[in-house]
Amino acid sequence: MSAPAPILSLASLRADFPILSTKPGGKPLVYLDSAATSQKPQVVIDALSRFYEEDNANIHRSAHGLANRATELYERTRSHVGRFIGATCAREIVFTRNTTESINLVAQAWGRANLRAGDRVVLTEMEHHANLVPWQMLKEQLGIELAYIPFDGQGQLELAGLDEALKGAKLFAFGWASNVLGTINPARGLVARAKAAGALVLVDAAQAAPHFALNVKELGADFVAFSGHKMLGPTGVGVLWGRLDLLEAMPAWQGGGSMIERVSLQGYTYNQAPWKFEAGTPDIASVVAFDPALTYLESVGLGQVQAHEQALMRRTLDILSAAGAQVYGPAGAEGRVGLVSFNLPGINSYDVAQVLDSLGLACRSGALCTHLIMDRCKVAGMLRVSYYLYNDESDVSALEAGLARVRRMFKKGAA
Ligand code: PMP
Repeated sequence: MSAPAPILSLASLRADFPILSTKPGGKPLVYLDSAATSQKPQVVIDALSRFYEEDNANIHRSAHGLANRATELYERTRSHVGRFIGATCAREIVFTRNTTESINLVAQAWGRANLRAGDRVVLTEMEHHANLVPWQMLKEQLGIELAYIPFDGQGQLELAGLDEALKGAKLFAFGWASNVLGTINPARGLVARAKAAGALVLVDAAQAAPHFALNVKELGADFVAFSGHKMLGPTGVGVLWGRLDLLEAMPAWQGGGSMIERVSLQGYTYNQAPWKFEAGTPDIASVVAFDPALTYLESVGLGQVQAHEQALMRRTLDILSAAGAQVYGPAGAEGRVGLVSFNLPGINSYDVAQVLDSLGLACRSGALCTHLIMDRCKVAGMLRVSYYLYNDESDVSALEAGLARVRRMFKKGAA
């Protein structure tokens, strides 16, 4: 079967990512782990060093020009993130360290103020630990109840019991796209059903925002969380989008500088949202360098990114099928983000990852921060291949050759 032609002009695009021309261990790098973190284009790397070389000062504090410039650059990214996801205004954007921190913020600030013992939060069994443990902690702290929506053998949520679970629930928190199954969940429909039941909705968009266009107004949710480092940005920048009225009404969750309006011997008053959620000095340089990452994605176009990943995924699924792999999640490339998790029969996923690594292929293996999925699929671990806009057909071919090598090695070992 002939491979579909790549949609992006990859030759020029790959050159924007310096790490892709390195040879760790003497082998050209084949990076198949973008779901863990994406690689960074030169413009982002340059923006990081330029900030330290030319603009470095603390923000929101001093009257000097340098501090004003740093503050302006930091706030410019906030506005850009707002436009990128269709927010009503930049004040709906809270900067955190990552998706994990964004979800913990909602659990601790909104949850502690609004939930009581016996209140129900609905989750799914395909959540990343980042969207499970903060709620399990809140269960310990407040005595809330948790309900879990299961998924079927095709990696699709089983929605028959959803309306019953949502009846009287206070919050539905679910992932838009699974970091293991690759499933793109029908987020708008899920939000509508939660809203009809009177529940608020938090969407974990960590694996969605990098791969397809996201519009928070169309989505209709109350909170959306994602990480800059998975979408070409530096590590250290997470986003929490929240409806402004909710953010305004929520208490802060960490106390310190920047988050207050006034402190006296008697106590303190809050700054406005979003700054009341950004106590202390944030990762200023990384926020500033997230701006060109968004520009880069806009210039390529997320529609192109998604179509490109699907083309690579179609061929990958064929290769895995030919290799006799057990593939988890949807059978086809449509309805998937650009990732697939699988096992080769009789071979430990960690061993496969080790052999592939020796060939220069960087893949993720293990429980992938999703013990509930591992339990449901009755495995200890999986191997995951994940693509982004800079991957191309040569990476898929390298995977094909790598898996053939693994199978030869382990056949020999068994003989
Ligand atoms: N949710 C999902 C679906 C993820 O894939 C990840 C990262 N693997 C996270 C949350 C957590 O992201 P971070 O580590 O950036 O907080």
